[in-house]
Amino acid sequence: MRRALLLALLLASTSAAGHGIMGHMHVTGWAIENLPESELRAFFQDPEVKNAALFGAAYTDSGYGQPKDELKAAARAYSEHTHWEPFIADFVAWLGKNDPPPWTTLEQKKRVAFLMGCAAHGLQDEIFDSLFLPQVELRDKGGQDNADPGTDGFLALDGKLRFFPTPYYPIETVLALYKKLPEGVTQNVIDKSVKVVVDFYVNAEFGVAVAKTLGTRHEPALPWTRKHYLDSGVPGSLTSEIVPTMNYLLAIWERLHGRLGPERTVSFTFPDPPRRIAGTDAATPDSWVTILYGVGVARDSLSATWSDSAGGAVSFERRNTRWDAEWTRLHRLQPSKALVPGENYTVSAAAGLVRIDGQKTAQPVTLTFQAPCATTDDPKCPPLGPLPEAKREGATPYPMRPEAPPVVEVTPVAEPSSVAEPAVVLDAGVSAAPSPSAGGCQPTGDRSHGLGLLLCLLLALLGLRPTHAAQALTQRLGGQRDLSL
Ligand SMILES: [Zn+2]
Repeated sequence: MRRALLLALLLASTSAAGHGIMGHMHVTGWAIENLPESELRAFFQDPEVKNAALFGAAYTDSGYGQPKDELKAAARAYSEHTHWEPFIADFVAWLGKNDPPPWTTLEQKKRVAFLMGCAAHGLQDEIFDSLFLPQVELRDKGGQDNADPGTDGFLALDGKLRFFPTPYYPIETVLALYKKLPEGVTQNVIDKSVKVVVDFYVNAEFGVAVAKTLGTRHEPALPWTRKHYLDSGVPGSLTSEIVPTMNYLLAIWERLHGRLGPERTVSFTFPDPPRRIAGTDAATPDSWVTILYGVGVARDSLSATWSDSAGGAVSFERRNTRWDAEWTRLHRLQPSKALVPGENYTVSAAAGLVRIDGQKTAQPVTLTFQAPCATTDDPKCPPLGPLPEAKREGATPYPMRPEAPPVVEVTPVAEPSSVAEPAVVLDAGVSAAPSPSAGGCQPTGDRSHGLGLLLCLLLALLGLRPTHAAQALTQRLGGQRDLSL
């Protein structure tokens, strides 16, 4: 009976997107541990505060696992909405109005940290879906259905799982933020959905057993993914998301303090100079240039140019996030032809990027980078020397900026309607910018982000035999199951 129900739910489920919940919790935790010396690093020193961020990174997908028909629409709606910048901008604005910094009590801090966890999850999905999934499709002929649970499983098989946060979500605040959703999100919907996720996945016992099963199941079909899911040289891999996530958290901290000026809109780029672009083949995502933002940007507001060292134009296609959200946290520039090995290129994003908080960039942002040479001994491509690396273990602060040339150069230009701004300095926290205003809270609803978590769980449960982990689960549930008829 139970298996029949699980199978029915499985067949009724739609495809998943993004990486799995274990991946989200861990990239978020790694990003927090890599934070440079800063106010935000100090903020996260309290384990309860860090726990709230890690749980926020799990909470964001919780609505997709809701098995009860009468709750599904509202559960899916809140999960989907939580992923995107309109929710993050609303949350930032809500705090500015109702609970501005400094935050002194633990409850205040946990609410801010929870926002950061949700934001980190949404950004990671945009990066993974836009950059890594195309690689999985190309190299493994795979897709969302196996890359999502598979990468979670590989983390478990490789012994990388170490964050298992306890539940925390600021229910009154999120309910206020979900009021605009037509599906009628209630506390009951959220509580029930979170319970399923916590009971079946976000825990160190049954959750790890499920993840291992997923890894074993998907491993044979995903040889390239298995090898590269933690490869920092592949944009979109879990390791490659650490610094972008860290920079996004720093940007949100500045947004919360009204300090993220327009000159700090760009938060990261792939490639990340002085590192070279990952590859030259236009048929692979290795050759794409990706610009990431610390705040949602109108998808059609980017005007960019790409030129070689002689000033010749490189033709390219501009894409935003995979799911074409109105407010994107990244743009991809995909060259039409192969890049020249060893060549130096310049990409420039013109002033005029429109942000969800109503601000607009007044200066162009220029990125100069090199394509890799065909051979390792080519004098045009000397060794880059030691560069800062994001760590997955330990808590070493990431250097504020590399010693080598800065990632982004800003060239002042005449812009009559704009105010001149200082050069880009990450986390300086001193630029005087107008306070962010509320962004529009509109569910984008255009991402095929399905019943991912439950799909994973059911796949695993259908294949699981009674184990110690299952016994632990039974104890945890106290004989009651949300999945029962
Ligand atoms: Zn997600």
